[in-house]
Amino acid sequence: MQRLDALARRLAVGGSLLASCTLASIPCAVAQDSLFQESRPAMGTTVEILLYASSRVRAAELFEAAFEEIERVEATLSSYRPTSEISRLNALANGGRIVTDPEVFGLLARALDVSRRTDGAFDISVGALVRVWKRGRANGHLPPSAELEQAAAAVGWEHVVLDPATRSVHFLVPGLELDFGGIGKGYALDRAAALLRRAGVTAALLGAGRSSHYAIGAPPRTTGWPIVVPDPHDPERPLSNVHLRDGSLSTSGSGQQFFEYAGTRYSHIIDPRTGVPVTGMTQVTVTARSATDSDALATALFVAGPERAAGLLEHYDGVGALVVTAAGPDAAVVPIAWTGSPRPRDRGAQHLPLER
Ligand code: ADP
Ligand code: MG
Repeated sequence: MQRLDALARRLAVGGSLLASCTLASIPCAVAQDSLFQESRPAMGTTVEILLYASSRVRAAELFEAAFEEIERVEATLSSYRPTSEISRLNALANGGRIVTDPEVFGLLARALDVSRRTDGAFDISVGALVRVWKRGRANGHLPPSAELEQAAAAVGWEHVVLDPATRSVHFLVPGLELDFGGIGKGYALDRAAALLRRAGVTAALLGAGRSSHYAIGAPPRTTGWPIVVPDPHDPERPLSNVHLRDGSLSTSGSGQQFFEYAGTRYSHIIDPRTGVPVTGMTQVTVTARSATDSDALATALFVAGPERAAGLLEHYDGVGALVVTAAGPDAAVVPIAWTGSPRPRDRGAQHLPLER
């Protein structure tokens, strides 16, 4: 844990949050409260929390509780952990019916609702396709078409059936695998933030690597936690500045998780309609009231692309997006109800050429 007495010192702590989102000129104290920072590895990335607290001891208690909550959520949702509730569902729900806990049931319902509202662009049932493409990527070639067909047959959010009366889950097709990779980090931040609020915290920023951020309140005498959305084609340059207050910001893409094959750049996000990773997109950033929503919607809009994105967001209040298409002569930044600055003139899906 670090107490941060000056901007220079705070920036010097570095870490994943600052690598993707640069915070600027945050006052260090209000009344007796001081700003503290701690980061820990979690959810396959580095989770960083900045918060105002009355003492080092109090801050340490808060960090402990928040990171414990994130660990609890990860242990529940990770499909990499054989003991997680999601692994239990993936192993047993084929053909059968499993009663799950209220938290997982609620998140499943929420994820399926995002699928419904995004025409299936976001789909937690993509697990089988994600696994096949990951293996292809590791072997340096595209997956064999027989494997792809088999995996594609096991994907489809309509095949995940929830029964609220019994809180049970069952899959209509064999081999279906749930994957919370596109929503879990945001959900974990929301849960940790709710815990901090209950503990009386009125100003904090939680970040999960480049993926998601959630802000409680704002630093004293400011309008929000300043966050820079980097230009994915030139990460040293800011694409937009956002002041986040009681809300979230999530980014999908951002240049790191791509692989090239035969001249095509494939992302780690699958278009569930085609069974193929999205190409032609670089980065989508979404702001929303909850990190669960912004995380899921950033993934959804990455699949949907700039043309469909504006229509899909009509189903959501208070959500903004900044969509960046792939590099090249047609590269564009498309703001949709985007409130960050500099605020590109925003008329629905207007294309703005990237300056470079
Ligand atoms: P990151 O994990 O980098 O924050 P995302 O939030 O966009 O990025 O999540 C990407 C992950 O979501 C993938 O690694 C995979 O596990 C899962 N995923 C891939 N395609 C989809 C999709 N169409 N809908 C929902 N989840 C997806
Ligand atoms: Mg996501």
